[in-house]
Order: sequence, then C-alpha cells, then structure tokens
Amino acid sequence: MLELDEVTISYGPKTAVRQLSITAGQKQITTIIGSNGAGKTTTLKAISGLLPTSGGKIRFMGEVISGRTCAEVFRYGLAHVPEGRELFPRMTVYDNLMMGAYTRRDRGRVTADLDKTFHYFPVLKDKMKLLARNLSGGEQQMLAFGRALMSNPKMLLLDEPSIGLAPLIEQHLIATVAKLVEEEGLGVLLVEQNAALALSVSNIGYVLDLGSLVLAGKASELMRNEDIRRVYLGH
Ligand code: ATP
Repeated sequence: MLELDEVTISYGPKTAVRQLSITAGQKQITTIIGSNGAGKTTTLKAISGLLPTSGGKIRFMGEVISGRTCAEVFRYGLAHVPEGRELFPRMTVYDNLMMGAYTRRDRGRVTADLDKTFHYFPVLKDKMKLLARNLSGGEQQMLAFGRALMSNPKMLLLDEPSIGLAPLIEQHLIATVAKLVEEEGLGVLLVEQNAALALSVSNIGYVLDLGSLVLAGKASELMRNEDIRRVYLGH
C-alpha cells in the first residue's frame, strides 16, 4: 500500500534519513522504532508531504506521492497524526473533529464517520462540547486520532502517540488502534520510542539508527532479537 524506495531526506546539507526502503500494508500495523534523532519524525513528515525528499520515491496505492503537497497526499487517504497532536485548543472537541472532515466532498458520510469515531472513542462524545485544551493528555491523543479518522483515511501515520501518557492509557490507546486496523481494515504506520509497546501490537517492524535502516522483520521476531532487547527493550 505504502512503499518507500531508497528515500533520502535532508535538512539543508545535513542528511537525516539515508536511502530508506520500507513498506506498510493495509490492515496491518507497521512500526518504525529507533532512539532520539533516528529520523522517525522526518520520515513521516516526508511521507505526508511536509518535507521534500532529496532522493528515492514514495508510492501510495501504486501512485508516486513524493513531490506532492501535503493537501494532495491527504486527499490520497493518508492522514498524519503529528507528534504533539496539534489540536485547536480553543475549539470544542466537536469542532476539532469536524476540521478533519473539512476537505471532504462526500458530506453524506461525515455523520457516519462521526458515529464511527464516537464508537471507538466514546469519551469524545461525552466531552463533545468541551474545549480541546480542557481534555486530559490521553483524551487529547484520542481527539487527534478521531480528527484523522474524520477524513476517512486509508492509512494513518502516527507519530509517538504514547508520549507523555501513563502506561495504562497508552496501552488502551494502542489497543484501540489495533481494533481499528482489525475492524476497519486501515493501515497504520506507527513511529514510537516505546519499542516494547509498538512491537507488541505491530505486524512488521523497522529499526532506524542515525537515519539508516539497521534491521527489519516481523515484530514478533524483533522482540526476540537479542540486540533489540538490549538496546530498545532494556532487558
Ligand atoms: P525523536 O524521537 O526525538 O523525534 P526522531 O527519530 O523522530 O527523533 P527526527 O526528529 O526525525 O528523529 O530527527 C532526525 C535528525 O534530523 C536528527 O539529527 C535531528 O537533529 C535532525 N533534524 C530534525 N528536524 C530538523 C530541522 N528542522 N532542521 C535540521 N535538522 C533537523
């Protein structure tokens, strides 16, 4: 579904990601793990058109999307949930959700997708009229997911959704993402520093270090890999 073919991404003279080749499929969670500065956020930004690539190609459902604007990539069905969530804090939960559906032409399906969002994140229905800034961290992350769902995406790009959340809340969130993938057939590309959490729900994992791919495989195999256990799982 999503394919990066020898993609290089640079900030001026500095190369942040070097000849990265990865794929992420439908109805699957694919994760990229790696420590601080490995290039995870940079990769997601390049996929969604926020950063240009300086080499290689990105394809989504067979079409080349590298070189396109983020509005164009979004219309292909790729929804990016950025690190830090980037909600509209002074708008209500409902209005934040509606912003996700802003560019849709199939207005008739928006209500159905709102119901779907409330089904997966019932707390958003209960707190629909509150300002986004008055939600807890976990609820804000759910709102960021919900806003992305309102665009009826084919694939979600999730950047560090667990950051700053208590372990029980991050587990609940990730379990809900897994349910969405299973029940709605979405594809998810998940970027996480919390490698144990990410690998526990993923099908495929990629390990990035200083902008280069160092390991790839089934998530279950990566969890058993001794180097991964020592460096990323802490045991
Ligand atoms: P983190 O988990 O800390 O977000 P990451 O794996 O997402 O780490 P990136 O944020 O993608 O890593 O950073 C990759 C490299 O690119 C790092 O060396 C970082 O310093 C550099 N970098 C990131 N953003 C910029 C920028 N705006 N200008 C210049 N260099 C940048």
